[in-house]
Amino acid sequence: MIHSASLINDPFGDPGAYVDFKYRREAFLFDLGDIHILPPRKLLKIGYIFVSHTHMDHFIGFDHLLRISLGRDRCIRLYGPPNFLRNVEDKLHSYTWNLVANYANDFELLVTEIHPEHKISRQYRCRNAFRPEGEKCVDYDGTLVQGDFFSVRSVFLDHGTPCLAFCFEEKTRINIKKNVLREMGLPTGAWLLELKAHVMKGEPDDLPVRAWWRNTDGRTEEKTVSLGVLRQKAMKITPGQKISYVTDALYNEENVRRIIELSAGSELMFIEAPFLHEDADAAARKYHLTARQAGMLARQAGAKRIMLFHFSPKYKTEGDLLHREAMNAFQGAL
Ligand SMILES: [Zn+2]
Ligand SMILES: [Zn+2]
Repeated sequence: MIHSASLINDPFGDPGAYVDFKYRREAFLFDLGDIHILPPRKLLKIGYIFVSHTHMDHFIGFDHLLRISLGRDRCIRLYGPPNFLRNVEDKLHSYTWNLVANYANDFELLVTEIHPEHKISRQYRCRNAFRPEGEKCVDYDGTLVQGDFFSVRSVFLDHGTPCLAFCFEEKTRINIKKNVLREMGLPTGAWLLELKAHVMKGEPDDLPVRAWWRNTDGRTEEKTVSLGVLRQKAMKITPGQKISYVTDALYNEENVRRIIELSAGSELMFIEAPFLHEDADAAARKYHLTARQAGMLARQAGAKRIMLFHFSPKYKTEGDLLHREAMNAFQGAL
């Protein structure tokens, strides 16, 4: 369950979002710009980093994170666009690693470079002087991470260079109230898996569900109960939350389509709003969105909340104008 999701810096600072979870000791980072503001306690929780592209303001935090993590027994997974392995390796090569073989702990980076149809991973271990190891190449179908509790997907956007937008989705959680089932005279068993599958598929309340079990002398007994009754009385269903992170994109037809599709129904949408719409030409020249476009995209995606960032320094004293313009578009009051 998501505990908090927030921007790392103020909207004029380097882009990036930190997502923290309840009951998990791992946090996610979207983009890796200036992260000095994060205390080591938070930095050391980061398990996954999704880098949109390697323009400096999105990737300069790599060194700081490496510095804090060295000598720790942990693994960080990084994902980035084409050429990402080379970007990471060039950073690692810029230091001398002659004394790391005897470190007590082995810090490890697992780096994945994403291409439109495949992804390539390499592993870099501190004790092996961060030499590339274990290269793997697998098909890429839009899903970057498929965990038990969540998934992360990405799409390519045109920013003059390939730039990734991400969406994080928690899976719906279903807890069965076993004491209630007992009171209903329904022992637990394999039928609960089918029950959960019905709920995940969104089957109607009047669907008959067959509960079955073996009694003490080995005979199968069964009862039929409607899905609605079980759903209402014996289950606690927590819908998963969806968070999307969209930055550094030209406003064109293909980007618009991909952004809306990726972030549809987001609980929270992080979206860049660097320029006022009156400067739409400058925004387009730099392959960025305007605040109005950001608000419209979030509205079209049906996002519930938006968080704006990557404000251009040219509006340093006018951040509220960017905010207002985006919020007006988001709320449909252009
Ligand atoms: Zn950029
Ligand atoms: Zn940028």
